[in-house]
Amino acid sequence: MFINSKTVTHIKAMLTSFCIGAFIFCICLSTVFAKDFETEQDALTHIDYLYSLKGRQPDVILEDLSAIVKMSKRENWTDSAMRAEVMQAEIYSFVADHKKAEEALELLHKNYPSIEDDGLLLRLKVVELTSIHQHGDIEKIQQLEALLLDSISSINDDELKVDVLLKVAYIQYLDSRYDKAIITYNLAYSMAQDTKDQDATGHILVALGNIYSKQRDYQSALNYYTTAMSIAENLEQKFGIAVTAYNVGYTFLLMGNTTEAREYFLKSTQTYDEVGSEVGMAQATNMLGRVAMAEERWSDAIDLFMLALPSLESSGNIQTLFQLYVDLAAVTLNLKQLDSAELYLTQAENLFPQIENKHSKQLFYKTSSGIKAALFQFEEAYSTIQKMAAIQLEIFEQEAEQDTQKYLAEFNAEITEARNSALESENELQALKLESQSETYRLGVVIVVLVLCLFVATAILLFFIFRNRNHFRKLALVDHLTNAPNRRAILQHATLYFEQAKYCGNALAIGILDLDKFKYINDHFGHDVGDAVLQVFAEKCQQSIRAQDCFGRYGGEEWLFVLEQSEHENISRIFERIRALVNDSEIEGLGESYSITFSMGVAVYDEKIDQNVSDLIKRADLAVYKAKQSGRDKLVFTD
Ligand code: GH3
Ligand code: MG
Ligand code: MG
Repeated sequence: MFINSKTVTHIKAMLTSFCIGAFIFCICLSTVFAKDFETEQDALTHIDYLYSLKGRQPDVILEDLSAIVKMSKRENWTDSAMRAEVMQAEIYSFVADHKKAEEALELLHKNYPSIEDDGLLLRLKVVELTSIHQHGDIEKIQQLEALLLDSISSINDDELKVDVLLKVAYIQYLDSRYDKAIITYNLAYSMAQDTKDQDATGHILVALGNIYSKQRDYQSALNYYTTAMSIAENLEQKFGIAVTAYNVGYTFLLMGNTTEAREYFLKSTQTYDEVGSEVGMAQATNMLGRVAMAEERWSDAIDLFMLALPSLESSGNIQTLFQLYVDLAAVTLNLKQLDSAELYLTQAENLFPQIENKHSKQLFYKTSSGIKAALFQFEEAYSTIQKMAAIQLEIFEQEAEQDTQKYLAEFNAEITEARNSALESENELQALKLESQSETYRLGVVIVVLVLCLFVATAILLFFIFRNRNHFRKLALVDHLTNAPNRRAILQHATLYFEQAKYCGNALAIGILDLDKFKYINDHFGHDVGDAVLQVFAEKCQQSIRAQDCFGRYGGEEWLFVLEQSEHENISRIFERIRALVNDSEIEGLGESYSITFSMGVAVYDEKIDQNVSDLIKRADLAVYKAKQSGRDKLVFTD
């Protein structure tokens, strides 16, 4: 379907109805927006409301904001003034009025040097990014981008997070860093999906479509647009439908499919009409003009361009307007309306100093040289072609420079990434090393503790072994009733002393002492008393002998003395001492009148008679026997 004059009339009617609609809308808005606030809180609530409009109706919002700023300053409401000013900067940036955005930023930095709200600071940084982007300092752009992406994690506001990602991605898209832009958009997409923000989801899909369109992957672009379109249609979001239709049309135009392009631009125009966006409608109409141009329907193109012109002239978008004048000049040139062509070109020329887009400039020179050639001003046409060639060269140089910078930045980013991952690995390695060191240390401590435990356990064990051994040894050599050396012990002593007497010439006497009538004690006083007598007796014997002498329990109530002396007198003194001590002692249960007596036989060592200790003991035994025989209670020496 071609655009014909009927279609144009239809569009004219739409534009007229739009103008009336817009007028009514503005009156309504003026009643909603322009009002005084009683408190700062009211002003802040209103700013939040304006923020929620997400830049729709920017002109009206800006007016409202400046009213809030004025009022807040008058009332000394710092917070609402600051928030309104931040939003002003955002809106200027949004409508691509970068000069005003920068001025607003500067004022904000001057008036509010320390803004504490993280979210607000982030929003300002986004404006700053857009503004820096205008100056094309790639390094600064990427630094700020990295900072923004980093700060996102510390922000709680999900909507703001998505907004920031969208802005960063858009800048990456503008810089033809499509790979990065796709990543950032996808990040934003998953966040928007998480928070079920359909509005943002649609926006992201459109943006992804734009990237693929730029990369000439038109089919992928159309796929994204289709999904975005169905979301917008489901939500009945006319604005979204209009924008998406515009983009689909643009993609078809790039593909050379002017029929589809026209369909979608028409759809966009109608939907913009429904939402009352004059600028949107004019832009879509402008694109319909370009479709007509591509189809060489010059008069339709003129009609469409003329329809779009008034709104685009008042929208203040210099770039679009400049392009429109150049297009008009080219179309009128083709229609051989040279006067008109010259007129439009002059209008484009007036805007020329403000134009930065070199492609647009090149088109300007191309049209200009065409017009001049048509006017037979060949020299001027030639010099214009030269300017066009110069611009073409600039474009090449700029693109080459941009590519170099792009590759350099990518290269640097890759190096940094590689370095970071190397550092990361190093850190991990270090951490592992530290861990293994501490593991070794811990293991060492465990081993030391285990060894100590083992050592202590062994020591305790040894202690018990020695104690028990000593105990058993003691048990083996001590008489358990009287604690005196037992028979085995006293015989060992006797043997040792005998050897010393034999080989060293030491004095030696063996005495055997037997308690008299002990059976009687047992029988009359009880076995326990008998035991007690034995215990006391042993004690008295121990007290009576010298340190070098010893005695032991030889049998039941029989004691063996090993004395390192041979003098009868000394031995008798021992006998008497024992007798005295035993007589002095009191034994419970033993009648007071009863006195304990004992008989003792002693044999002094005689090297001629005694070959071994048994000989000596036998002789002592004989002597005690003699003592018993001769009336007991006495000491008898062998002959
Ligand atoms: P004597 O030697 O004067 O001829 O008369 P005795 O009564 O001492 O004679 P004998 O040697 O026959 O008796 C020793 C008694 O000692 C016999 C035994 O019951 C008693 N006896 C031996 N060992 C113990 C003991 O450990 N405790 C008590 N209470 N009596 C013991
Ligand atoms: Mg006896
Ligand atoms: Mg006896």
